[in-house]
Amino acid sequence: MPGFEIFDESEKEQINEVMDKGFTFRYNFDGMRNDVWKARELEGMICETLDVKHAHLVSSGTTALTTALMAAGIGAGDEVIVPPFTFVASVEALVFAGAIPIFAEIDETLTLSPEGIEAVITPRTKAINFVHMCGSMGKMDEIKAICDKHNLVLLEDACQATGASYKGKALGTIGQVGTFSFDSVKTISCGEGGAVLTNDSNIYKNAHMFADHGHDHMGMDRGAESHPIMGNNFRISEMNAAVGVAQWRKLPRILETQRKNKKVLKDALKQYPEVTFRELPDEAGDNAGFLSIFLPTETRAREVVAGLAEQKVPAVFYWYANNWHYLKNWTHIHNMTASAKLPIELIADRPDYTQIKTPKSDAIISRTVSMLIQLSWTEEDIQSRIDAFATVFNQ
Ligand SMILES: *Cc1c(COP(=O)(O)O)cnc(C)c1O
Repeated sequence: MPGFEIFDESEKEQINEVMDKGFTFRYNFDGMRNDVWKARELEGMICETLDVKHAHLVSSGTTALTTALMAAGIGAGDEVIVPPFTFVASVEALVFAGAIPIFAEIDETLTLSPEGIEAVITPRTKAINFVHMCGSMGKMDEIKAICDKHNLVLLEDACQATGASYKGKALGTIGQVGTFSFDSVKTISCGEGGAVLTNDSNIYKNAHMFADHGHDHMGMDRGAESHPIMGNNFRISEMNAAVGVAQWRKLPRILETQRKNKKVLKDALKQYPEVTFRELPDEAGDNAGFLSIFLPTETRAREVVAGLAEQKVPAVFYWYANNWHYLKNWTHIHNMTASAKLPIELIADRPDYTQIKTPKSDAIISRTVSMLIQLSWTEEDIQSRIDAFATVFNQ
């Protein structure tokens, strides 16, 4: 997944262009910037590559989620269905918007299951925050049909899934609005950054205004621009966008390398009968940033993780015991500090998140082990992993 592994002169050249000729702010200053517009350039590249009408860059994947919620009209008191397996930011964005996260079960795609979603829909449900975890998709035809049937907004958190697709459509462009993260460890890195994707001009207009204090961006002079809505400052800087321009050009190479490396490891694991694999509804569209396997039991999964650690295999994730990626460890959902209150703390009938049970997801995630697929691997690196598998799985 990490694009930072292949930083080279091209990222530095892009940043230098901003420093030498351009300006750090993404709007205005036309007289100073010699026509250098890195944020605009990257937005154009994203739209063209992914065949989506609008992309709006922001400061992070988390602020992209907040912007997407605001732009799509999701907020105070709205129930939004989320998976218990995701990076906690997918939930934070809802909580800070005043929405109520409602957890539903996942299936062996490691994403929300259609049945899980159906089981928790109420008249207050406004949207689904569908997280394409670890670079791959769920059963998108069924998910989309549920959203259409119940008139729900499909927001895709594709923060880990840049470059992935489902039946030829880029993940993040299937629902009304989608998000990418370009943080330091994601598929494409801007250092920090994110994007909101949509084919809906109204959502785009709202996102563009919201992420810049509500500016309508219609004028030459910022002080004279109109302010149709309240907003916030979630702008990306031109330096960060410049890094993204160089990185985005490498996306085909990143995908090709990840897919090649993942295939070698996956093929090597197929000989062990105890190992099964994450379900991929469209395997060709997997961005291949991770390889996720299932072991028969939680005990065996923990043994395998310990065994791989003993063999010094880096970047192995056991999400079930991770404080940031699984619901059972998020006891802090409605706790701000002693002196500040989150919007959700004012909702009298909010769920008690310490009591939420997702047994089907527990049964899956407790048996799941994921491995990061890296771009910098040599053939020896890959072989040493295969040797480590032999030691661990033959036991
Ligand atoms: C990384 C990530 C985010 C947040 O992105 P940042 O750019 O780090 O704010 C949101 N959702 C998921 C699934 C992520 O992996």
